[in-house]
Amino acid sequence: MLILSSPSGAGKTTIARKLLEQDREINSSVSVTTRPMRPGEVEGRDYHFASPAEFEQMVEDNAFFEWATVFGHCYGTPKAQIRAGLKEGRDFLFDIDWQGTQQLYQKAEVDVVRVFILPPSLDELERRLISRQTDSSEVIAARMARAQAEISHWDGYDYVVVNDDVETCFAKVSAILHAERMRRTRQTGLIDFVRELTKSR
Ligand code: 5GP
Repeated sequence: MLILSSPSGAGKTTIARKLLEQDREINSSVSVTTRPMRPGEVEGRDYHFASPAEFEQMVEDNAFFEWATVFGHCYGTPKAQIRAGLKEGRDFLFDIDWQGTQQLYQKAEVDVVRVFILPPSLDELERRLISRQTDSSEVIAARMARAQAEISHWDGYDYVVVNDDVETCFAKVSAILHAERMRRTRQTGLIDFVRELTKSR
């Protein structure tokens, strides 16, 4: 499970989209949210949009791996879609906040790599939020206030990447993913191959 977190506007969504486009081995986890759909978003691709009552029902049904309240709306990772894939050893990308990251990390049965993306500066973060034209000025002000609080949780991550250039940042996140896949402990499929290689001839 590759987790990407950042304050909104730091470029995480772009990095996540590029990874999913360019790396056929990684699947996306589509979260459920109670926040309204933004222009350009697609149900089932960006999020599953649910009413607060539907979300609450899913919490009661224990249908989430993790869930959290962010900016007054609920967000959760549904178990159903990823459970089978994880069992088969497929990689999944999670665009979730620090609260969800902590919840996932504390689960014994999951194998998690946590990456935090930082904006190059607060001014740049604000500029990006404004240029998105998807949020009202009040929401932007609230996101800016939250950004600093979110950044303070950077020590709960394995890797930290500053996104001053999206291509460079993407290359770094991609390198992390590739290196983590090559960890010996994750390459259980190589056991028979290595046995063959170490046989006496
Ligand atoms: P946005 O509304 O901008 O799409 O997302 C707001 C925040 O919610 C982002 O920091 C995003 O990472 C986080 N988020 C999205 N989906 C989930 C989820 O399923 N669980 C948690 N814990 N956070 C999520």
